Amino acid sequence: MWTLVLNSGSSSLKFALLNPASGEVRLSGLAERLGGGEATIRLERGGEKVSRSLGGGSYAEALNEVLRELDALGIRQEVRAVGHRIVHGGERFSAPVLLTPEVLDAVRACVPLAPLHNPANIVGIEAAQGAFPELPHVGVFDTAFHQTMPEVAYRYAVPQTWYRQHGVRRYGFHGTSHAYVAGKAAELLGRPLPELNLVTAHLGNGASVCAVAGGRSVDTSMGLTPLEGLVMGTRSGDVDPGLHDYLARQAGLSLSEITAALNKESGLLGLSGLTNDLRELEEAATKGHAGARLALDVFVYRLAKQVAGMAVALGRLDGVVFTGGIGENSRTVRAMTLRRLGVLGLELDEHANDHLPRGEAGVISKSVQKKSGQKKSGQGEARDPLALVIPTNEELMIARETAVIVGGRGYAL
Ligand code: AMP
Repeated sequence: MWTLVLNSGSSSLKFALLNPASGEVRLSGLAERLGGGEATIRLERGGEKVSRSLGGGSYAEALNEVLRELDALGIRQEVRAVGHRIVHGGERFSAPVLLTPEVLDAVRACVPLAPLHNPANIVGIEAAQGAFPELPHVGVFDTAFHQTMPEVAYRYAVPQTWYRQHGVRRYGFHGTSHAYVAGKAAELLGRPLPELNLVTAHLGNGASVCAVAGGRSVDTSMGLTPLEGLVMGTRSGDVDPGLHDYLARQAGLSLSEITAALNKESGLLGLSGLTNDLRELEEAATKGHAGARLALDVFVYRLAKQVAGMAVALGRLDGVVFTGGIGENSRTVRAMTLRRLGVLGLELDEHANDHLPRGEAGVISKSVQKKSGQKKSGQGEARDPLALVIPTNEELMIARETAVIVGGRGYAL
């Protein structure tokens, strides 16, 4: 009945115990700064929030803390499966999978593609398999949803051998979130997902857009790594690939120094010179901080260009979905973006955008009917696209996909 969802990072563990059918959450939380001197764990159970220090806590200690909580709640025996978020599944994984020793070897083989993320995911899986040896463990890959992309979208214009021998191609990430909000958008619009062409924009500290045609990813802005595409919190997104050579010669920087700066010192942080936190940037911009203003402008401009590009992948556009910490909460970013997307027939509904309650889904654009008072005639089913806000729920999606795999293999859920 209960599924434990684990998202293991290099120094963090995000966890949730939920019911895949109802979405009910019994326990959730985040352990951070693991392996350092000041590890902490935050827990939420039944509306009650607790935060405590784990000292120099390791990943295993954080997991033990979660197990103690499950015991305290008396539900450890009711956990039926464990779902693990795995960042990179390469071309091998296009769907969630039961984590057998052979599958784990295949996940290990993907480590060169995600050297920071996959090793941490594997450590988490092995620790959880030790803690719950009797339970099925399922891997849900961030890249899997994008395996439906056509070759025209996933190939780079680089030597063929780079692709054939080294897997240099676009993979895309955030797949769980894009898939979840696309399904929810169909529910909100009251239309079948197979009939819908959507651009989903997952805008958090990491950010990507995805063209979803009939529920399948046909293009996305992230590529070989999560560095490609949009401006993000600390990641640059697209830059000229000639930048590395130029900086190496001009500034004497090494490849790894440039890569680290593009990942950790760029994006909103780099542009503003202030912070990667969008909320703080909005406040600073209203007080006249030029760097904050520029960071917001570039973020939105690049986002709007990518959304318009994704519309090309779809041919016809039915909706643009905003999600993630920024997409769900920043009415400023949503309004600025939609004002740039009139070219796609999108028109901001300021009142709806300003008054959407926190954590709720809703439509924030004017529909054809609202604009003209009646349906456009002579265009059959043609309608202008709508802009939607849909809170994402990656944990629920992972729990559901885990339940499908486990249920299909005859385990009782
Ligand atoms: P995520 O990675 O999805 O947790 O998103 C983190 C980003 O969402 C950060 O840049 C936050 O500043 C931003 N964010 C969260 N809440 C708000 C808010 N109320 N207004 C603007 N940005 C927000």
